[in-house]
Amino acid sequence: MELYNSASHRREEFVPREPGKVKIYTCGPTVYHYAHIGNLRTYIMEDVLVRYLRFSGYDVTRVMNITDVGHLTSDADTGEDKMLKGAKREHKTVMEIAAFYTDAFFADCEKLHIEKADITEPATGCIDDFIKVISVLLDKGYAYLAGGNVYFDTSKLKNYYVFNDFNKEDLAVGVREGVEEDGNKRNKNDFVLWFTKSKFEDQALKWESPWGVGYPGWHIECSCISMKHLGEYLDIHCGGIDNAFPHHTNEIAQSEAYLGHEWCRYWFHVLHLNTNDGKMSKSKGGFLTLSTLLEKGYDPLAYRFFCLQSHYRKSLVFSWENLDNARAAYEKLLAKVAQLSDNGQPVDEAGFAEGLRIFRQALDNDLNTSLAVTALYDVLKLSVNDETKLALLAEFDKVLALDLIEGAAKLKETKEEETPADDEFTSWILSMIEARKEAKAAKDYARADAIRAELLSRGVVLTDTKEGTTFQITK
Ligand code: AMP
Ligand code: ZN
Repeated sequence: MELYNSASHRREEFVPREPGKVKIYTCGPTVYHYAHIGNLRTYIMEDVLVRYLRFSGYDVTRVMNITDVGHLTSDADTGEDKMLKGAKREHKTVMEIAAFYTDAFFADCEKLHIEKADITEPATGCIDDFIKVISVLLDKGYAYLAGGNVYFDTSKLKNYYVFNDFNKEDLAVGVREGVEEDGNKRNKNDFVLWFTKSKFEDQALKWESPWGVGYPGWHIECSCISMKHLGEYLDIHCGGIDNAFPHHTNEIAQSEAYLGHEWCRYWFHVLHLNTNDGKMSKSKGGFLTLSTLLEKGYDPLAYRFFCLQSHYRKSLVFSWENLDNARAAYEKLLAKVAQLSDNGQPVDEAGFAEGLRIFRQALDNDLNTSLAVTALYDVLKLSVNDETKLALLAEFDKVLALDLIEGAAKLKETKEEETPADDEFTSWILSMIEARKEAKAAKDYARADAIRAELLSRGVVLTDTKEGTTFQITK
């Protein structure tokens, strides 16, 4: 499989460090608000990556953090803690906010068929791990104390800024926001590992540390949680493109300084979901959540389908019209699958292999989900029996998770429920025709005419022919 690696700035053959095993880390949500559908785009694409690696036979271990402390409103280490902002907004405690939005995040993921990471760890559960790593960074001379905080010294590194092939606008967070400079920093890109003095007063959660009571910086949590569960080497690190700088750049800096060797081999970044007004963002407000989509009657899987239709390395524009088109295409696809029938014929092995080849080719091509969706239509067109098509679709759905077989079965059931109503009407018409025939035979013409009139009032036109009476439903 080829994947684009943001660290090497090119597509590379994916080769995990340990044959057959993949260790993967995903930056989790900052739980001060609902995830917006942009965040969820990133998690859907990461989910497809993990599912496809498993589909390809890898034993995958995936870890995700929950950011419940230390993520400030500005990535330049200024502003207030986002969690505190959420707590103030809702007049609740930080931990109440964290618990509520963590649950909401998992509920959204479930609806979108995003599998849970094997290990999910909130940052507040790992304070000792952060302190341990920061102490080593200080001992090794990669960190310094200033104004009561502990900072990472980026000037100590040979290579700090590794994701510099990205669009400046995508990276233009934090240090370019024009926020006030932190005078304690020796170099512009230095970042806080542990806060004590600054932002101390109204910070709700704080812990004892060798440098005073305080709380960790945001970047250190992902490095530590990854190393805690996945060890010294990581195969793939994922996140949205806004995380590339400064978050992931700082993660690499501190992890490699701590470990003394390369940490993560492949960096997988998902481009943003934008609206016509720009990037969808939690802090800007006015963002769309999955619940809004549900309230408007959209199936969550129609949104998943919308995301899969485009490649993760292209930004995706959200509009209701685009979503409507995706929903229509998804429903049409399910209707086509519902037309396939399993009559117990054997699966055509050559056809099955051909379908699988098309699907694999799409996803081996830098996880091209757009081509994988096309592969679904290709399968429907293959000249093989329905059983083979159904077997292939079930196989693809292990990765795409669009409920293709179950969704189509539900559609069939609904149709069948509707059919008895139609059948009942037909039986009623036939019984009325029979009654009219009997009335005529008994020379009860008034009754025969009354039956004809009743049928007509229900839109049924009768025609008497030599062979008998036929009918036509006109309404
Ligand atoms: P956050 O909850 O803000 O920490 O973000 C959770 C994930 O969503 C991170 O991987 C972000 O990079 C990603 N993300 C943020 N905004 C967007 C967006 N508009 N489109 C896609 N992914 C995003
Ligand atoms: Zn992270």
